[in-house]
Amino acid sequence: MSDDTPALSPATIVVHAGRPPRDVDQPLNTPITMASTYVAGGDLEYGRYANPTWAAFEEALGALEGGRALAFASGLAAVSTVLDLVGQDALVVAPRHAYLGSIGQLGDLESRGRIRSTLVDIDDTEAVVAALDATPEGAAILWIESPTNPALEVADVETLVRAGHAAGARVVVDNTFATPLLQKPLELGADIVLHSVTKFLAGHSDIVMGALVVRDPALYDVLKGRRDLIGAIPGTLEAWLALRGLRTLHLRVERAQANAVELVRRLQSHPAVASVRYPGFGAVISAELRTAEAADVLTHSTSLWVHATSLGSVESTFERRRRWKGEAKTIPEGLVRMSVGIEDVDDLWNDLEQALARLP
Ligand code: PLP
Repeated sequence: MSDDTPALSPATIVVHAGRPPRDVDQPLNTPITMASTYVAGGDLEYGRYANPTWAAFEEALGALEGGRALAFASGLAAVSTVLDLVGQDALVVAPRHAYLGSIGQLGDLESRGRIRSTLVDIDDTEAVVAALDATPEGAAILWIESPTNPALEVADVETLVRAGHAAGARVVVDNTFATPLLQKPLELGADIVLHSVTKFLAGHSDIVMGALVVRDPALYDVLKGRRDLIGAIPGTLEAWLALRGLRTLHLRVERAQANAVELVRRLQSHPAVASVRYPGFGAVISAELRTAEAADVLTHSTSLWVHATSLGSVESTFERRRRWKGEAKTIPEGLVRMSVGIEDVDDLWNDLEQALARLP
């Protein structure tokens, strides 16, 4: 392409990036390469270091986020790879309401004397800056998740990136909820973008996978080196399915978000719903019912909405978050996290409405 070719839109990148070369008899789609080893002397060598199917997924995700991607066995494998970079006793500042597995890893490392952590309300920019500046040594990592899971707080990513860098921290943004279609943290100056690919990127409740995306080549090499050593690599079939899912990300996010906006409007005026949290974008809603019991009745009274954890898939799922022991005690007992799918919005609403009518 020449320099004056207009930049492609994400809807085109998502369809075209990571394809095999457009040569006669090449498949249009990247094949599933099942290989533990490769004939020596090239770049691939061994199945823990490289795989052409991962590479195709990484190329597509990297093009979307504007960086270079690395695929991991799960979102949490990506989280632990990043936290592994933190030096002994260094400080990590993170959202109080980040995904419970990420908080769990921080707590585990802290309890073993490896790191220190300070949990903050990530939507309170002043409080985050104060936590970064609390000690003269500064912080090693500012962890941002935005929107947070499941409180749906939104961080001022650009301001926090500047504050994090001023405190000497690497800034990591868990972009799982927003996807690169709604938020591009690397463009806002973040050092590392993290995804639970399991969610919106793959989008079909069929795989568990994670990814990191960075711009700095040296940081890429460090993270790739960690993945090689730890072996937190994805399966080949998983990478292929993730790429297959990614091809429709723009359509799925557009439809699920439109459904979510409409459902928020209807939920807000329903007398059984105490309050509705929605950041104004994306396809996750957190609806607060008055009691845990009411939330449990709701999640067991539908035929379309599936009572299941996880999010970001084509089908609508929901759950009462406090049913998980590890969930923050500051999340209300009656909070139901709703992951809105791509079904017909009236069908989704009718299913919810008849369930809401049954609440105690
Ligand atoms: N980050 C967020 C925001 C999540 O919601 C999750 C999982 O729910 C993870 C990370 C962890 O990803 P995985 O389940 O793929 O390990």
